[in-house]
Amino acid sequence: MRYADTAPPVITLTSGPVNAYPDVLRALGRTVLYDYDPAFQAFYEKVVEKTQAAMRLSTRPVILQGEPVLGLEAAAASLITHEDTVLNLASGVYGKGFGYWAARYTKKLLEIETAYNDAIDPQAVREMLKKHPEISIVCVCHHDTPSGTINPVDEIGKVVADHGAYLIVDAVSSFGGMRTHPEDCHADIYITGPNKCLGAPPGLTMAGISDRAWEKMKRNPAAPRASMLSILDWEHAWSRSEPFPFTPSVAEMNGLDAALDLYLAEGPEAVWARHALTAKATRAGLRAMGLDIWAARDEIASPTTTALKIPGGVDEAQFRSEARARYGVVFSSGRGETLGKLTRIGHMGPTAQPIYSIAALAAVAGAMSACGVKTDAGAAIAAAIAIIDQN
Ligand SMILES: *Cc1c(COP(=O)(O)O)cnc(C)c1O
Repeated sequence: MRYADTAPPVITLTSGPVNAYPDVLRALGRTVLYDYDPAFQAFYEKVVEKTQAAMRLSTRPVILQGEPVLGLEAAAASLITHEDTVLNLASGVYGKGFGYWAARYTKKLLEIETAYNDAIDPQAVREMLKKHPEISIVCVCHHDTPSGTINPVDEIGKVVADHGAYLIVDAVSSFGGMRTHPEDCHADIYITGPNKCLGAPPGLTMAGISDRAWEKMKRNPAAPRASMLSILDWEHAWSRSEPFPFTPSVAEMNGLDAALDLYLAEGPEAVWARHALTAKATRAGLRAMGLDIWAARDEIASPTTTALKIPGGVDEAQFRSEARARYGVVFSSGRGETLGKLTRIGHMGPTAQPIYSIAALAAVAGAMSACGVKTDAGAAIAAAIAIIDQN
């Protein structure tokens, strides 16, 4: 049997956007309140409070009305000036990409780049900062999703804090799926969103902002104001008694509200544990099947996405389309430099459940077979079950 490309798949196992939790889908159908209705203003304030609780912040976060790329670009535009020397840390496509944004706002850009199956070494950051005491801002992507690898962002943040530089963190695809919070890594701007591990649709950015980052942005005459790219415009919007600069995405706020309720009620530690277990079972299964993962070491393999290294001779796009056509399972491709070299199996939000590792492994085995690569599907399933049963 074949699943048609034009019909929705059976299971979406991507690394974002992901399928939303049923409670989130129901929340998207709530009444669309007028943004200046006092009920909406009180609701908005509550959602910001829940975001603050989930991010374990001592300062009030900002919700920007666009998917997290808006937040990342806004962070670069607001915090980085021509007086800054920026150190960009690139261990993958997103980390590298942030450097291009940074370069729009300063001419003094330094970079540490690793292989895209590896992670940034905090010691290398320490040495770079020592060699270039003028570095005033450091940027890092926590989980470089197109590689499925994790940077040690808490250790890097400690090094940056010792130096006194500002830190911008892209935690879009890690927050909510593993232990990571803005203050644990001393981030001055920490960007995440609802559309990865929180299991809500794309459309908003959640940004943690330190007091000194607010001060620096306010001192920057070039920081966007009266603009969709502005962070400053939204500083007071959390308050039920303050106006919104623009109309917020009411339905997306409803979805985020439900996603935060689910996350906080289940308990973040329990949510992280099922992400980690699903990834661990998937890795064990892939290896038992005779395949390999992209990440150079298990310690840096993401708990929210497993990147499968594509064997030589296999067309990655064909492999993914076989998985979809034969099993109705959708995976993510690589991006940029990793495109064609790996396939990403997402374990985010509602699909961060160990049983989905079994579905993923079955689809991988069948699609590999369709591409002419024989694997041991039985061994893969047994290995995944053994991991699940141990925990
Ligand atoms: C998903 C993601 C973003 C947001 O970008 P998209 O347009 O949703 O792909 C930013 N950074 C990282 C690391 C992400 O995984």
